[in-house]
Amino acid sequence: MDPIVKRNVLLNPGPSTTTDTVKMAQVVPDICPREKEFASLMKGLREDLVRIVHGDLEKYTSVLFCGSGTINIDVCINSLLPEGGKVLVVNNGAYSTRAVEICEYYGLPHIDLKFPVDQKPDLALVEETLKNDPSIKLVHTTHNETGTGILNPIREIGALAHKYGAILTVDTTSTYAMRPINIEEDNIDFCMASAQKGLMAMTGLSFVVGNRAIIEKSKDYPKRSYYCNLFLQYDCFEKTGEMHFTPPVQTIYAALQGIKEYWAEGEEGKWARHTRVFNAINEGLDKLGFKQVIKPEDRAGLVSTAVYPDDPNWSFEKVHDYCYERGFTIYPGKISSTNTFRLCALGAIDVKDINDFFEVFEEALRTNNIQIPVKYKEN
Ligand SMILES: *Cc1c(COP(=O)(O)O)cnc(C)c1O
Repeated sequence: MDPIVKRNVLLNPGPSTTTDTVKMAQVVPDICPREKEFASLMKGLREDLVRIVHGDLEKYTSVLFCGSGTINIDVCINSLLPEGGKVLVVNNGAYSTRAVEICEYYGLPHIDLKFPVDQKPDLALVEETLKNDPSIKLVHTTHNETGTGILNPIREIGALAHKYGAILTVDTTSTYAMRPINIEEDNIDFCMASAQKGLMAMTGLSFVVGNRAIIEKSKDYPKRSYYCNLFLQYDCFEKTGEMHFTPPVQTIYAALQGIKEYWAEGEEGKWARHTRVFNAINEGLDKLGFKQVIKPEDRAGLVSTAVYPDDPNWSFEKVHDYCYERGFTIYPGKISSTNTFRLCALGAIDVKDINDFFEVFEEALRTNNIQIPVKYKEN
């Protein structure tokens, strides 16, 4: 069946390629979101968001926000730190650095525990830091550091946080509804995502999934933001079933359709598809001789980061534009030390899309007289 709208293959790290059914789910009769009918849709949505990470609905809840994924990091950090507490950010990349910047903007006491972007955090150092500073009450890290594609050991970090009396907030924006997560077994107190990534829906709806008792306790924590306070939004949902302020109505309809398609494909089936797409991306890059930043065994299975070749004719822009004109979007990297670009296995795509992409990508290299296999100066 021909797509209703032109279909682009997005290999950028979100938003991702969506199905026609998700796109069309936004075309609905106008409705005031304060109607009971709409509130009941949001109730089901909030429960499904907890079910996706296998959370017990008594113990865990989800809270929706109108904004891009970064709003979740902001909300968790500014709302969940008790008076006198300190944040520990286990930081090996751009997205954990964003959490550090949030601490700086709110003037929150924090430790930026930095590790190289191509390496997993050293758990012994994480433990030592926690042991030496009992004021640490919130540990934050990123599951799949989308800047590189490295997988962080959240379960182990969570166990350490809990051992020393802190909670764990994890930025799971680029794994949620893709790489399976079990909120309780993974020692997560709060995780988060936005509808345009794993759910393969639209931008503008983000959500935090986490421990109800901790949210209730945070009622008495210092209030550092009005629009972005977790308890305030949660309390409003609990009392009225509604968002405190206007929700992104049409985006919510798309998210509901995305979730329907998520259950239809299944957690296992979806992860298997992302995995075969990811494998096809890596095979394609390997065949053309591209080096990658993250060792195969450390990859989260969703984002590949390739190093620019040392070829005088290499131009990311020209290669990007050639692919873009043909319906494929590639994305620059997010590492300051190395020039890289990323190819991501998010979205409603499959192996055929990757094979089609590599035909166009190879043409782009040839058209620009970039040598194949690509060359690098010695290591
Ligand atoms: C996409 C993403 C975000 C959200 O970024 P926005 O630009 O605010 O949408 C946050 N964290 C991670 C790990 C991501 O991949």
